[in-house]
This record gives sequence, C-alpha cells and structure tokens, in this order.
Amino acid sequence: MIPPLELSSQLAAIEDEVRAAIDEVLRCGWFILGRQVAAFEEEFAAYLGVRYVVGCASGTDAIQLALTAAGIVREDEVITVANTCVPTICGITGSGALPALCDVHNTTLTMDPASLEKAITAKTKAVVPVHLYGHPCDMDAINEMALMHGLVVIEDCAQAHGARYKRKPCGGLGLAAAFSFYPSKNLGAYGDGGAVATNDEGLAHELRMLHNYGEKERYLHIRQGINSRLDEIQAAILRVKLRHLDAWNSARRQRARHYAARLKGLPVRLPEEATWAEHAYHLYVVRSEHRDALHQHLRTEGVGTLMHYPIPVHLQPAYQNLGYPAGTFPVAEKACNEVLSLPLYPELSFEAMDRVAQAVADFAPPEPAS
Ligand SMILES: *Cc1c(COP(=O)(O)O)cnc(C)c1O
Repeated sequence: MIPPLELSSQLAAIEDEVRAAIDEVLRCGWFILGRQVAAFEEEFAAYLGVRYVVGCASGTDAIQLALTAAGIVREDEVITVANTCVPTICGITGSGALPALCDVHNTTLTMDPASLEKAITAKTKAVVPVHLYGHPCDMDAINEMALMHGLVVIEDCAQAHGARYKRKPCGGLGLAAAFSFYPSKNLGAYGDGGAVATNDEGLAHELRMLHNYGEKERYLHIRQGINSRLDEIQAAILRVKLRHLDAWNSARRQRARHYAARLKGLPVRLPEEATWAEHAYHLYVVRSEHRDALHQHLRTEGVGTLMHYPIPVHLQPAYQNLGYPAGTFPVAEKACNEVLSLPLYPELSFEAMDRVAQAVADFAPPEPAS
C-alpha cells in the first residue's frame, strides 16, 4: 500500500537532531515561553522575511488571535472561501466574528477577488485568503479590494510554509498571517503548534498579551486573553525542521513535476500554477468527474488517496446557520466533488509515483447510466 502521507521516513532522517533538541529542553527544565520559543520565533521570522513571529498552540488559534489583535470583535464579518479546511472557520468564530464565504478561481481553487467583492457588506471587517494546497492566492487583487473597502487581510498560511507569491514569501503579504505546525504540514511539529507572522509592531505586542492570558507584565492583565502557547519542546523540534524546510519543499516540487509528466494525457485534471506562484505542494490535488470511483479504484490498486475537502463549509451541518444554500458557490462545490489528493511527501519514491500514475492510467470510468 502506498499511503497518502507518511511521516516516519522523515523522522528517521533527522532523529538524532530531534532527540538532541528534546533532550536539551528536558535538561534545561523550562517548558513554556523560554529560549526555544524565542529562538524559533526569530528564525521563522527571518525565514519569512517578516519582523515578528509569535508562537501559539495551533493554526486555528493563530487565525483567532490574529483577528482579535487586529481589532475584530463580535458582530464583525470576516470573509473566507467556501472550500477551506474547517479550522479556518473555527478561528474566525473563535474571535467572535461571523464567517462569510466567497467562491474560488476554477484554476487554482483559491479566493476569487470578484466573488470576494460580492460578499463584502457594511459589516465586513477582514478577509482571510487561504493559500490552499500551498498555492498562493491572487494577493495583489485581494489586497487592492481590501484597501478599497477598509478590510484587514489575514493570510491563512497553514498549507503554505515556503510558498511564494511574486517571489515574496507567503506570510508577509497581509497585516498578519496564521501558520499551523500540525504534524502533516510542510513544517510540522510532533504535536500541535501554530504561529502568527506580522510586520506590525503594535499587532505583535497585542498577540504576545492575548496568547498569554492578556498579561502585559507578571500578574497585570490588560486584555481578556486566552492560553495559546507554542511549547518549548515543539519549538525545539521546529527549529531543527525549519533548517530542512527548503530542501523538503524542493523535493515536493520535484515530485509534483514528476507526477505532471507521468499523468499528462490521462483523464484527470492536473493542478495548475498561476504565473505569480511558487507552489509549496502541501498537497498534489487532481480533479476527476469520477472522483469517488477513481478513489476506490486506486485503493484496490494499493494507492491511498485523500480528499481536501469533500464537503464545502456552507454544506456542513455545523454551518447551516450561515444561510448559504447549495448552489451558492458553484466552483467550490464542484471542486469538492472532484478533488483527489495523490500521495505526496518529500521522501516519496519515484518508483511509487510511477505505480500511482500507472494505477490512474488503468482506471476505467464507470459507464454512464442510460
Ligand atoms: C491545518 C489547517 C488549519 C488549522 O491548523 P491547526 O493547527 O490544525 O489548528 C487552518 N487552515 C488550513 C487551511 C489548514 O490546512
């Protein structure tokens, strides 16, 4: 069986470094907000080319904290895309805001600025573009729209560590950006973790208070904050892994090129890169009108695949209150029925990818019912 994702071969390659990093934290005996977190924040900020990074407990919290720090409050509307990973929405509702949705570009499946414009109301205060699958959004158009309507832009970079838009790293393209270090992400911890990146000094100060009980200095609380911290062990692990991120991302891109060559001419739609994009290939997502049958076929051929995501946000039972009936976001809805993520990770062998491509080539779509 070729799994859709496999983390153990990566660990094997860096196990000595990781164990040494964990041991150092244990020896030091300081587990929350210490040297490792401070060093990781500095190193990740340098990597992204931003002035500040503030660690937190998850990508979901990073979205919530960034919105709160940016002044978003209850009743404000925050727009994101209908085909995102649900935690984007959890981060928005966590801030007290009301999520609003828009549709995506059919080529990249990222936010469509024209659809964004239609979703803007007098209550809209922020927009959360999602660099889905590691493909950067159409940021100039989104930023222009945001500027015109006085909206704050918070990037959802949970799938885009190392992705670039017009040569600039994702994470420095709005007021702030939310990162997740969930284990399967391009930069993943061995547990939960997240961070907010920003160039705004005031926002960084707010974040440092908000994620630590609203504390300005010991026992002086000037904000109603939460507890959402990156811990020292995860930060030490992330420092090790950050040093490998560019090599891992190149390995992902190389594998995406290999898939593209092998799958060319087969009846699946391949991922497309916009002219501005340096894709981080968190996922390699093909599309097929016979997605469910293809998924089953690949499974019987020993190829594990996933769907990101099979149900759009507005058709989830939990979000019926948003009031968007089926058909509201046709591009996102169609994509949810067609997307299939092929196995992809930096250590995936080319031989395995050839087997995946062969299995796709052997797929016979079901006969249409007559
Ligand atoms: C993973 C992910 C998140 C949430 O990150 P967590 O660390 O799991 O909270 C948010 N948005 C997107 C697009 C993601 O892929």
